Amino acid sequence: MPEGYNDSLQSPITDPCLIVPRDQHTISRANISENAVKVLYRLKQGGYQAYLVGGGVRDLLLGREPKDFDVATDATPEDVRRVFRNCRLIGRRFRLAHVHFGREIIEVATFRGGGDGEEVPGERHIENGMIVRDNRYGTREEDALRRDFTINALYYNIADFSVIDYAGGLDDLRAGRLRLIGDDPECRYREDPVRMLRAVRFAAKLGFKIDPDCERPLIELGQLLQDVPAARLFEEVLKLFLAGIGLESFEKLRHYDLFGRLFPATEECLAHEDQSFPITFVSRGIANTDKRVQEGKPVTPAFLFAVLLWEPARRRYEELIAVDKSPFDAMVMAGGEVLSAQQSTVSIPKRFGLPMREIWELQPRLEQRQGKRPFRLAAHPRFRAAYDFLVLRAESGEVDAELAQWWTQFQEANGEERAGMAGARKGKRPRRRKRRPGAAAKDGAGNAAVQAPSATGSTGAD
Ligand code: ATP
Ligand code: MG
Repeated sequence: MPEGYNDSLQSPITDPCLIVPRDQHTISRANISENAVKVLYRLKQGGYQAYLVGGGVRDLLLGREPKDFDVATDATPEDVRRVFRNCRLIGRRFRLAHVHFGREIIEVATFRGGGDGEEVPGERHIENGMIVRDNRYGTREEDALRRDFTINALYYNIADFSVIDYAGGLDDLRAGRLRLIGDDPECRYREDPVRMLRAVRFAAKLGFKIDPDCERPLIELGQLLQDVPAARLFEEVLKLFLAGIGLESFEKLRHYDLFGRLFPATEECLAHEDQSFPITFVSRGIANTDKRVQEGKPVTPAFLFAVLLWEPARRRYEELIAVDKSPFDAMVMAGGEVLSAQQSTVSIPKRFGLPMREIWELQPRLEQRQGKRPFRLAAHPRFRAAYDFLVLRAESGEVDAELAQWWTQFQEANGEERAGMAGARKGKRPRRRKRRPGAAAKDGAGNAAVQAPSATGSTGAD
């Protein structure tokens, strides 16, 4: 219990917690998703305890709109399934009930227990200090203290609309402080290294300051992320970079030496700045994604990963061009190699990996503006993403701004103008390129990626 913590308002169950009654906090049912409210009431009617917890309570208390609503209860997942027809049990590491309402899912978690008492085989499994499975159920207090940050361990009780605080989360919310629960932050990070990424994410999202005791181990324990399954890191990367706080997240991850744990090949490129070029491309791409999120435009993991891994892909591409590969083959090979090397840290599912590679593979083809090619390219399902990517490259000074401008105009032009644009270039270059030894790097479609960076401004395209 933190010093100075007021536990005079103890709950009748004698938990050492602070209970803030309805008239002393700002959470109103009107701001909670209808479906979450339904789940809370149905559990209550079934005779169970039911609370809103986690980010939902935190964000409502901060006057922000929660991303999703999580529910905690003393009902077991099987009990929850009996109460809701529209319910699926998921998870091995943590068994959870998902209650489905169309596209909205309310996650219902059973209170988790503490570390004391007999270990029942299969309930809980710890490897090298890391919790790899945890399905031991417990009390509300135990559940609170097993959560990550104090501000994430606040409970909104549907029975009396009070807010319950076991860990000093309300004080930390007021102070803008991100603090792990308990007095051994290192141990909490070891239990689950993903908490390091969560620290960065919440600091970026809420603008909170990480408590110094929780901040120190971040730099030292980064290597623990290598023990986290690559598929779980993929999910965390999406939360870091596709929620409108990507640039803040990126800068903080780099500050704590964590970015390289997720994207070693990209970090390697960023560490060897090339006329300040690489770092501007990655951060511009991330900023561009943030802007799209803020404007409510769709964003895709394929484009994000195309941005995050472009630097190593581009470098490999240049090496392959230098040994006389054709631009298209070089990009296919470079893309394949970079993607497969990445899978061991943050795995990228095929449904995103393939379109990511297509975005890259279209880059050399965007150099080809004569004849029927631009028409075919503009009809390609990945054209728009590839064009956006080209614009980013142009903005970073990696390709000539004129090329991106040409494609901007081409899309805006009518049929006749388009024919003129494509026709005007007809005959400027031989249709089949003859590759001269040693000249491959400057040849035809491959020239973009080997040009010296030029100081170009915006193409005016968005
Ligand atoms: P948001 O949903 O806004 O990203 P959140 O805090 O709700 O933030 P979730 O991943 O939805 O994050 O998790 C819900 C709650 O579960 C958290 O608030 C926290 O109490 C608990 N939790 C999540 N991940 C962990 C973890 N790795 N260790 C301990 N507790 C966790
Ligand atoms: Mg949540």
